[in-house]
Amino acid sequence: MRWVFLGPPGAGKGTQAKKIAKLRGVPHISTGDLLRTEVGTKTELGVKAKEYMDSGELVPDDLVIEMVVQRLGSLDGYLLDGFPRTLAQAQALHDRTNGDGVERVFDFELDEDRIISRLSGRRTCRSCGAMYHVDFLPSEKEDVCDNCGGELFQRDDDKPATIRHRTQIARRQAGPLLEFYDKLGILETIDASRSPDVVHEELRGYLGDP
Ligand code: AMP
Repeated sequence: MRWVFLGPPGAGKGTQAKKIAKLRGVPHISTGDLLRTEVGTKTELGVKAKEYMDSGELVPDDLVIEMVVQRLGSLDGYLLDGFPRTLAQAQALHDRTNGDGVERVFDFELDEDRIISRLSGRRTCRSCGAMYHVDFLPSEKEDVCDNCGGELFQRDDDKPATIRHRTQIARRQAGPLLEFYDKLGILETIDASRSPDVVHEELRGYLGDP
């Protein structure tokens, strides 16, 4: 399976990607997660990426492309989440695979009001990365992870002003990307306003399981 999940932040790509990748036994590769690890361990890439990420800007293409190409190595199955986000990234992925790489691209659609309400309530565990939502998926004890007891925090880039900036950037970049994949005939649109279970069932339908 070689799938790509596109769409604005907060559309549920990460949640769905984790489940589908596990079902299929392929790595879930989230460029946001990879970059946060680089930032956390203060690598050269992490130091460069941090200022862009904190302000909701995209990290420059050359840095992200190099990181993803290294992570993909010679893998023949993957679920990419949050990459590509620009046409240059899509072209780099396409070139790497001689054009026969990505099998399907899912564009998660969600309006801005819903994006803001979902992201501003999002909380992440500092220790294990598990995600919660203060209204839709609260932890049992406030600010404590149900899985590991770690501390839950709100990402700096999940604050409302940064969210608005991130969604504008995402929208600006989305047009040419969608056109690129539409022309290849591999683009599917997902209505991400529905419940996670309903979206999951729809995605499972594309897996071709009996
Ligand atoms: P995410 O967790 O996918 O929302 O990503 C968090 C932040 O990481 C984004 O706001 C960007 O600053 C950066 N980022 C993640 N993926 C990419 C990408 N494919 N290209 C450029 N920047 C990215």
